[in-house]
Amino acid sequence: MDSGMIGKIDKAKRYAQEPHRFHFEAFTVKIDGENNSHVVKFANNKWDCDCDYFRSRGICTHTISITNYILKDMVPAPVEAG
Ligand SMILES: [Zn+2]
Repeated sequence: MDSGMIGKIDKAKRYAQEPHRFHFEAFTVKIDGENNSHVVKFANNKWDCDCDYFRSRGICTHTISITNYILKDMVPAPVEAG
């Protein structure tokens, strides 16, 4: 590995320790649930999930697993419907 690449990897490690640098803009995740798979989408700081619970509540197991555990503190939490 050349010295240029070593420097890039060191910088990548440093950035990874500074999660405030990262701003997720849009992504789609397929989650294998116990019964069915569900598709969660994030765009423009808004969440969507194709499960019935999300449709009625605006939050669900799938979005919570991402916001609270997988991407903890790196994406905004969904807002529960009132
Ligand atoms: Zn869901």
